[in-house]
Amino acid sequence: MCTGTGGSYLGDQCSRKVWKDGYCKIHHPDYVQERRKKSAELYEQKVANEPYTLLKKEVARTKELEAKVESLKLKWTKELPSQVGWYWRRDKLFDDGLRCVEIRDYAGRLAIGNCVIKDDDFWNHYEWAGPIPVPEG
Ligand SMILES: [Zn+2]
Repeated sequence: MCTGTGGSYLGDQCSRKVWKDGYCKIHHPDYVQERRKKSAELYEQKVANEPYTLLKKEVARTKELEAKVESLKLKWTKELPSQVGWYWRRDKLFDDGLRCVEIRDYAGRLAIGNCVIKDDDFWNHYEWAGPIPVPEG
């Protein structure tokens, strides 16, 4: 007889005849495992399609996109412009106001007009935000 247990109460001795390794086809460990795996997969599928799970996914995706939008926002920095283009520039120290300046290549160096941008006291009191994307259309 099969050494597995079954019936309506756990612990009931199975009365089926042995198929392999001392178990009937239903209680053989390989089959038991396979059934459990299938059942777990079905459960996972069911959970994956539940409205709550789908909503949770959307919430996670939204947060991801919000973080991306945040990372793309222009932020003020004390770091000098590193490329050609238009930049916002402000000077809190001398209250020079908010300006939009063009950073251009001047004989291989970044400059505003003919003033080369350097890592010195003059340039370092500015804050920068850019380069500003050029409008399309
Ligand atoms: Zn059995």
